[in-house]
Amino acid sequence: MSAEMKVPFYGHVRQYHNLKSEIDKAIVDVLESGKYTMGPTLKRFEEELAAYMGMKYAIGVNSGTDALWLTLLALGVGKGDEVITTANTFFATAEAIWLIGATPVFVDCHPDTRNIDVTKIEEKITPRTKAIIPVHLYGQPAEMREIRKIADKYNLIVLEDCAQALGSRGDDFKIGELSDAVATSFITAKNLGTFGDGGAVITNRDDIVEPLLRMRNHGSIKRSVHSVGWNSRLDDLHAGILSVKLKHLDEFNDARIERAKWYEEFLAGTKIKLPYCKPGYRHVYHLYVIETPGRDDLQAFLQERGVETLTHYPIAIHQQEGFPFGAGDPHPILPETEKNAAQCLSLPMYPELTKDECKYVADCILEWERSRA
Ligand SMILES: *Cc1c(COP(=O)(O)O)cnc(C)c1O
Repeated sequence: MSAEMKVPFYGHVRQYHNLKSEIDKAIVDVLESGKYTMGPTLKRFEEELAAYMGMKYAIGVNSGTDALWLTLLALGVGKGDEVITTANTFFATAEAIWLIGATPVFVDCHPDTRNIDVTKIEEKITPRTKAIIPVHLYGQPAEMREIRKIADKYNLIVLEDCAQALGSRGDDFKIGELSDAVATSFITAKNLGTFGDGGAVITNRDDIVEPLLRMRNHGSIKRSVHSVGWNSRLDDLHAGILSVKLKHLDEFNDARIERAKWYEEFLAGTKIKLPYCKPGYRHVYHLYVIETPGRDDLQAFLQERGVETLTHYPIAIHQQEGFPFGAGDPHPILPETEKNAAQCLSLPMYPELTKDECKYVADCILEWERSRA
């Protein structure tokens, strides 16, 4: 079987070509300015991002991982604390918890949304629980109203991992509105991505801003005066590129939603589990993840037909051999998480994906399904 079409998993270069004049100008402007770290381009982007989120502060850092662990520290979470999150997320969510000396405690995911199952959070709360990190997985917000209620009842900090969901919102809540802070990532593959690494913390809490500004710059907010911090700055070059892309973010997310509709339409009648969007939510489809027990076979079938796919995430964090478990439950029972890991398959999804490509991908999937009936 020869492939009739080649459908790449990512559209980064297509996006660059579409925005080439704007992006090239932003890069040249920074190069000509002579100010490459902690300069005016970073400051401008931070203001634009805070305004976009409808929040008071945005603080650029070097990665989404740094945004998570530095914010946990700024919020007073640390050694001996337990932090509740999910195990079907990118490794960094749990890594950040481990890095500050705290213990991740994993709650199973919901069978439909694959976000944290809010009905299973309370049973994991102990006297050591200090915070919850809900992950807005694949581009859909977690159920923040319910999470807020639990956090209020047990006096817990809430840090949103929004690395996959900038521009999304809930039915009656916005990202950032019901938590202490939001962490996000700008690595290339994200909805808002640069050509390299980057991240940010967005918050309304005045008290964590200075600690974060210090920590990202060797404990210094005044030249030559230091406390112990870290080096985690968002380069002005990336900030300039991100400023350009932020202006297009809503339109990009709308295009992703349109492509999700195309997939749904072209895959009508399939028995394969398609992404579930909660009524009233704005799911921005950072990833378009289908689930089938024949995942590996389908992935190979699509590869042969020129369709590139990936898996997010095929090994749940509690099943990673390299994950250093602390005092928490070393063998949590997370059946939905394990099912998600075994069955997930991410289809090509980006604003530059054409309708013909979506149709071709869907036709190949339906052909595979018929071949197995
Ligand atoms: C990408 C990602 C991160 C980490 O961001 P980096 O910028 O790669 O450090 C954290 N959490 C989630 C859910 C992610 O998707």
